[in-house]
Order: sequence, then structure tokens, then C-alpha cells
Amino acid sequence: MLRSLFIAAAGSSRLERLVESAPVSKGIARRFVAGSSADEALRVSRGLADDGLAVTLDHLVEDTRTIEQAVTVRDEYVSLLGRLKHSGLTPAAEVSLKLSALGQRIDEKLAREHAHAICAAAAEAGTSVTLDAEDHTTTDATLETLLELRGEFPNTGAVLQAHLRRTEGDCRELSTAGSRVRLCKGAYSEPESVAFQSALDVDKSFVRCLNILMSGEGYPMVATHDPRLIAIGEDRARWFDRSTGEYEFQLLYGVRPDEQARLAAGGHTVRVYLPYGQQWYGYLMRRIAERPAGMGLVAKVVTSRK
Ligand SMILES: Cc1cc2nc3c(=O)[nH]c(=O)nc-3n(C[C@H](O)[C@H](O)[C@H](O)COP(=O)(O)OP(=O)(O)OC[C@H]3O[C@@H](n4cnc5c(N)ncnc54)[C@H](O)[C@@H]3O)c2cc1C
Repeated sequence: MLRSLFIAAAGSSRLERLVESAPVSKGIARRFVAGSSADEALRVSRGLADDGLAVTLDHLVEDTRTIEQAVTVRDEYVSLLGRLKHSGLTPAAEVSLKLSALGQRIDEKLAREHAHAICAAAAEAGTSVTLDAEDHTTTDATLETLLELRGEFPNTGAVLQAHLRRTEGDCRELSTAGSRVRLCKGAYSEPESVAFQSALDVDKSFVRCLNILMSGEGYPMVATHDPRLIAIGEDRARWFDRSTGEYEFQLLYGVRPDEQARLAAGGHTVRVYLPYGQQWYGYLMRRIAERPAGMGLVAKVVTSRK
């Protein structure tokens, strides 16, 4: 119930204006977002790298409706990759991108061309790109784009969502040598026809998918904050004899930073998903939705208004 409230709040432009202009908002957003500019993203990436953490940077874009917006997003990524290289942050820093931000809903072919340009910039910078997973109506198109990009850029990462019923099959298909696959629970609200609805069923699917990826030939990227699933991830890495560099854990910036440090200290590769950009409001609401205790944060924002 609270989760749906915050997911609805993520789409409310009135609440967006209220939260964005409230004095305490920036401080709260800073917990989950590097900042609004690439400069800030580079600064935070440097700090994480100094703590022994790898990074995947996400330029926050809520809704790309025009070709001009899509071109701006492409250019931002290309420029960011150049700056990561010149700052010596690659290969530990890579980028994550959403095909919708590159115009997938307006012109699929154009979005692929943009993704290709970003992969080429990543290759030039000595790093990689991971294609974020979005709602289930885009899964086939995103996986097709992935396979096309991998023809030229084999290190392009895929994301599979354990809550989708199809995902075990996708894990099998993508468990090939060198295939980088991020496994997460799935952030989108999906119908029962395509997705498991109970938390228990999603967790069970996550473990089945994890077993396929860890026993396969690819490079699993275990993206969760769930203590039980992280423990199972650690166990499977041992069981399938994977050494450091043959899998990684991924967590969101600002979420369970102590766990990020613990995993890194234990010798695991840990990558932090680091969002930045001016359109941080929707992302912040979705993070708070995952943690109902976040209700207090929004109350603080609203009562801080003069
Ligand atoms: C690196 C990364 C990349 C992702 N990429 C995608 C993607 O491309 N597509 C997609 O659909 N989804 C993506 N997700 C989101 C994912 O699908 C889940 O919605 C999200 O991670 C919450 O699920 P969870 O596995 O952490 O488990 P949950 O069941 O949500 O949380 C388990 C436990 O983690 C802790 N926790 C969770 N959230 C918070 C928080 N905000 N603050 C403090 N503690 C918290 C709590 O202890 C909680 O009980 C990504 C997640 C990560 C970590």
C-alpha cells in the first residue's frame, strides 16, 4: 500500500515541484544520488573507487519524449565516458543506461544507434555499458538490442528481472562465456500473467536464476540488498568455485553502505549503481517506496516548507 503510494508520488508533478524546492530535499537526495552534474558524479565515483568499490553510473532521465531529448542523453553519456577515461576512473567505472532514455519508445532504430554510439565511446574509454531492464513490454526489444550490440561490443551487460516468469529461460540463454548478466528482483509493477506476485515467489525465482548464472559460463552480477539473497550469492560463488573477478555484487548508492564495505572487505568485487542528474525526483521516490520508513523523510520535506 505505502509502496504504491510512493510509486504514484514518483509520477506526480505537483509533489515533484514541492519536494524539489523544499530546503531539506537536496540533503535527502544526496543520500541516493551523486548530484545533478557530471562533475559531482565524477567526484563521488572517485571517493567510491578510493574505498575499493567499482561503479556503474546512471544519468537520470525520467521521460524522453522527443528526438532532441534522446540526442542530449546520448551526448551526455559519450561526454561522461570521455571524462571517466581522462580521470583514470575506467575500467572500474562503467555506465548503465535505459533504452527508453535514448528514445526506444519514439524510434527503436534510433535508440539502437544511440546505444551503439555509447558502447563505442565506452570501448574507447576501456570500459563497458550495461542495458538496464525496464517494464516487461520492452524486454524482447531490449534483449534483441543487447545481442546486436554484443556482436561488436561483447562486454555489454544485460539485466534480467527475477520477478518475470520468463527469466529462468533468459538466464539459460545468456549464460554463455563472457556474458555479463545483472540479476535483480525487478522494480516495475507487472501483471500476474507475466510476473510472480508474492515476495516469496520472487525470491525463489531469484535463487533459481542465480543457480543457473553461477553454474554457467558467464559473469553474474548479483544486484540486491536482501541479506538472505546476498548470503546465498556468497554461498553459490564458493560452491561453484568462482574466484574474485568471476562474479560481482551490485548495490545502489546510499543503500546499505555498511554491507557494501563488508562485501568488499571480504574480497568480493562490489559495484555501486550511482545515479546523477537533474531529474532525481522520480528516482528518489522509488527508492523511498522500497523502504516504507522513508515516509518520515517525505514528511520532513513537506513540514520544512516556509
Ligand atoms: C545495482 C542495481 C541495479 C538495478 N537495476 C535494475 C534494473 O535495471 N531494472 C529493474 O527493474 N530493477 C533494477 N534494480 C532494482 C531491483 O529490481 C529492486 O527493485 C531493488 O533492488 C529492491 O530489491 P532488493 O533485491 O534490494 O530487495 P528488497 O526486498 O526490496 O529489499 C531487501 C532488503 O534490503 C534492504 N533495503 C532495500 N531497499 C532499501 C533502501 N532503499 N534503503 C535501505 N535498505 C534497503 C532492506 O533491508 C530490505 O529488507 C536494480 C537494483 C540494484 C541493486
